[in-house]
Amino acid sequence: MKKTIVMCTALCAIFLACSNEEDATATPTDLSSTVEFENLKLRTAQRFDDKLNAKLENDPEFALKYAENEAFIKAYSKAEEEKAKSGKSNLPIFTIKVVVNNIFRSRPLPMELIEGQIERLNEAFRGRLSGPSGLPSNAERFNAGDTRIRFELDEVNFRRNQRRFTNNTDLYARSTGGINPTLPGRRLNVYVADLIVASDFEIGIVGDGAFPGEGDPEFDHVFVDALAFGVRPGNGRLNEGKVLAHEIGHYLNLFHLPGRRTESCRFDDAVGDTPNSSTLYFGDVNTGRSTTSCGSQDMYWNFMNNTDDSEIFMFTNGQRNRMRATLDPRRGLRRGLTNAR
Ligand SMILES: [Zn+2]
Repeated sequence: MKKTIVMCTALCAIFLACSNEEDATATPTDLSSTVEFENLKLRTAQRFDDKLNAKLENDPEFALKYAENEAFIKAYSKAEEEKAKSGKSNLPIFTIKVVVNNIFRSRPLPMELIEGQIERLNEAFRGRLSGPSGLPSNAERFNAGDTRIRFELDEVNFRRNQRRFTNNTDLYARSTGGINPTLPGRRLNVYVADLIVASDFEIGIVGDGAFPGEGDPEFDHVFVDALAFGVRPGNGRLNEGKVLAHEIGHYLNLFHLPGRRTESCRFDDAVGDTPNSSTLYFGDVNTGRSTTSCGSQDMYWNFMNNTDDSEIFMFTNGQRNRMRATLDPRRGLRRGLTNAR
């Protein structure tokens, strides 16, 4: 495994500190309030849905590519379901090489935290996690277990920067204070920055994943706020390394469980084995409160819901097929990752 660590030099740090000193008055966001916390997760989810809906409405070329790809995924998923029924399913392992780009103010992410996050991704995608007690008795019914997708840390880049970011997209290029992606299209570039704690970005989000074909390959990213990156001691909300698994779900073509719009049972996530749902879940849901919509039990323990880290732990077979179709070495929109050397 090639692993490169690039560290911004002290000279570069001084230059950046001098050119961007705007964060001195920032007040840290108080996420100890449940309402604030759930608003943050709600904004994060809405931001993804709104961005994708706007792209579909305003970019006919993207809309066409999207429709063609949906037809491919449908055929791919059907073929996989047939193979599984006849016991002929033989899924090769798809390995994704990951580059972590960390833009930080005072302290870079420790290497152990980065390595622990990659390990957690492998646990999540290889079906090695279990859910909390108290889930409905059929919760595991559609659990894909091992998706046969694995992650390998390939490179870590650090940049110290004191500037006040007003959006997360500025992180994706050196010219706007961030880090240029490494081998775009062939590496999964994960960006991590501490925007929420610094209250940079008043409408902060906890993470973001580019939908396949959504943007320029150079900006084909996944973002996670440092608050939600890695596996750390904590209250189970954001500290178990699951936000990144959720954002990578989007990056590999998964929607939230209610689909691109939550207001109606008419929209769904284009996955056959996730129940139709009209609501996203936030916070600690596994408390006996009602968790049904559209006439069925909602899968609040699925990675593509927005429940606390401590409650989400699985993808379904249908979600696995969508993600694997996206990585298919011949036709997948992200085949560059699968074929990369
Ligand atoms: Zn999301």
